[in-house]
Amino acid sequence: MPRFEIFDSHTHANTMPNSALELMGVAGVEELALCSFVPVARNAETLSDHFEELCTFQRDRLDKFGIEAHVFVGIHPLCIPANWRRVLEFIEDYLSDGRAVGVGEVGLHNFGEKEEEALLAQFELAREYGVPVIVHTPPFERVKAVEKTLKLAEKVGVDFGRLVIDHTAADTIGMVNDSGAVPGLSIKPGLLSAEDVIANLDDFEAGLLNSDCANVTNTDPLAVPKAVSFMLREGVEKSIIEKMCWKNARDVYRL
Ligand SMILES: [Zn+2]
Repeated sequence: MPRFEIFDSHTHANTMPNSALELMGVAGVEELALCSFVPVARNAETLSDHFEELCTFQRDRLDKFGIEAHVFVGIHPLCIPANWRRVLEFIEDYLSDGRAVGVGEVGLHNFGEKEEEALLAQFELAREYGVPVIVHTPPFERVKAVEKTLKLAEKVGVDFGRLVIDHTAADTIGMVNDSGAVPGLSIKPGLLSAEDVIANLDDFEAGLLNSDCANVTNTDPLAVPKAVSFMLREGVEKSIIEKMCWKNARDVYRL
């Protein structure tokens, strides 16, 4: 089997044990996006320390397994601190000196007013710094979440060519493609499988494959290498596989 360079375009690999990172490296994951998220952040400073940990300790740890991490910083809708506007200053610090390459993971989850305000403000930062943004979509009310996200992004004037609508699946792929945004394809049980991708390859081939791996969710750190191997066995053209597991992410993230 030919070996592909793999870019896992959305992970929380900082939560994975060394044994999982070693397997990812061995399976061909050479680069990944390391997206900020903590389960609880009551204070803005919690996220500041988290961003710093991703850019130092966790980046170094991944490097030991031959994996280059590209850090995305942002306020995830599940951990918006009361004084979240303070976090915008921290995000700017990391974007302005290049320690972070983009904004993420951000998005809507429960559709509150605070979520929308935080997303708008972070879209503004992405536009201002000309960086890609990785947007979460929730497991429920998915079409509504994508519609609202696209509307907010349009209002701010975000570059849709660098706007990744993640966790896109069969129910939202049409909307995302029509909008000109980039589909993030998280291979996860109950959301999207490699079989689903192959069944509608024309729809999905502009997407960025990822594992969204985290130790607190039902995810698989080897989701992308396994999807690549499956697609190859099923006879998908090598150039298409290469785009989905490597080139599309490198282009959208401009690395
Ligand atoms: Zn995620």
